[in-house]
Amino acid sequence: MNAQGDKKRAAGTNSSIVVDRCQICDSAELTPVVFVGYLPPVNAMPPIGRRPVEQPAYPAQVLLCRRCRLIQLGLVVDPAILFPPTYPYTSGTTKILRENFAELGREVAALYPLTADDLVVDIGSNDGTLLSNFAAGHRVRGIEPTDAAHLANRRGIPTLISFFNRDAVRQVIAEDGRAKVVTATNVFAHIEDVHEVVGGVLELLAEHGIFITESHYVPSLVETLQYDTIYHEHLRYYSLTSLRYLLEMHGLEVVRARLIPTHGGSIRVYAARKGLYPVSEGVEAILAREREGLTEEKLQDFRQQVVLSKMGLHALLREIKTRGARVYGIGAPSRASTLINYVGLDDGILDCVLEIKGSSKIDKYIPGTLIPVLEESKLFEDQPEYALLLSWHIADELMPKLKAGGFRGQFVIPLPEPRVVAG
Ligand SMILES: [Zn+2]
Repeated sequence: MNAQGDKKRAAGTNSSIVVDRCQICDSAELTPVVFVGYLPPVNAMPPIGRRPVEQPAYPAQVLLCRRCRLIQLGLVVDPAILFPPTYPYTSGTTKILRENFAELGREVAALYPLTADDLVVDIGSNDGTLLSNFAAGHRVRGIEPTDAAHLANRRGIPTLISFFNRDAVRQVIAEDGRAKVVTATNVFAHIEDVHEVVGGVLELLAEHGIFITESHYVPSLVETLQYDTIYHEHLRYYSLTSLRYLLEMHGLEVVRARLIPTHGGSIRVYAARKGLYPVSEGVEAILAREREGLTEEKLQDFRQQVVLSKMGLHALLREIKTRGARVYGIGAPSRASTLINYVGLDDGILDCVLEIKGSSKIDKYIPGTLIPVLEESKLFEDQPEYALLLSWHIADELMPKLKAGGFRGQFVIPLPEPRVVAG
C-alpha cells in the first residue's frame, strides 16, 4: 500500500514500521500521549482448550503531531498480520449505526439536492446499509473488499468487490461516471496510506461533487476516556483540525462539520473542491473548541485519567470478586481486547465473555488471555451476578435488551467512570 512501507518491510526483518514521522504532514515532532501496553493482534484468538503458546504483541503508544495535531499510533503493524485471509467478518451494524446512515441520507437530501441521475459511491460499503438510504432516488455504487459485498449485491446495492484503489476508481468511472457524492465512514483510520485514499476520492469525485467522511472523533475519545478504542487497526485518531489539514493538502475544503453519536462520538465532515460551496459557521466553532480542548496539557490530564480509570475498574472488580460473585463480559468487539489486556483482566476475574449466536469468535479465547468466548444464551441459563459491558458505548441499547431477555443481575460499566448499574 504505502510505497515507503513496502520498501522498509522488504528490507527489514521486522514487518512492522515504527512511525518516526507524522502519517499526515511528515513532521518529525511527535509527542507521546499515552501508552496502553503491548497488545496482541485483535484476531489472535486460539480455540478453547489449546495450550498457550508464544504469541506476538505490539506496542500501542499514541503520539501527537505538533504541526497538524494528528493523534496517531507509533507503530504500523503489517496489515498481513492484522487482516489475515481468515479475518472474521463482523458487520457490527448496530441500531445506532443504521439510524445514523438514514439520518445522513436525509441530511444530504436537504443540503445538496441530488437528481435521479446523480451517482453516490460509498467506500468500504460493507453490506450496503448506508447506500440503501440513497438507492431509491439515485444511482448508487459500493466498493467493498469483504464478503459483505455479496450481501449488498443480493439486496440490490451494486457493489464492486475490491479494495479502494486507483483500479477500483477507474472501473467505477468507466461503468458509472464520476460521483456527485462520495462517502467514507470509518475507513480513514484503518488504511495505511491515507494520501492515496484522498487522491482516489478526488479522481472519483465530479467537479462539484461532495465528499463526506465520518471518523471516530478524538476529542470524544479524550473526554470519555475511550482508551479501549486504541488498537493497531486504528492508525489515526482525528480531530477536525487534523482532518482539515489532510484534506487541504489535496485541495479540498471543509464546508460543513457536525458531531454525531456513532462509535461513542464521531465527526461527520463535508468537503468539496476549494471555493465551490459556502463554509458553514459550525466549522470554525468546532475548530475553536479543539484549540482549547486538545492542548498538550489536556492530553497529559487524559493520560492521568486513563490510569485512574484502570485502577478504579480493578478496585470495583476486586470488591465484587471478594464476595465470590461471578462476572461475565458482554460482547467481544475489538475494543474489548484492548480494555481486557490494558487493565489486566484474566479468566480468574472474568469467567467468560459472551457473544451473540453465530459469532465467529465463539469457542475461542480473548486475545492474550484464557478467557473463553461463549454463546450469549449462557447469560440467561447460568446467570452471573454481574455483566461487564465491553460495548459500554452502547450500554443504553444493550441493557434493556439483556433485561428483556431475562438477565436478573447487575451491570458493570467500565468507562469512563467504572460503576455498577442495577439491572
Ligand atoms: Zn502532522
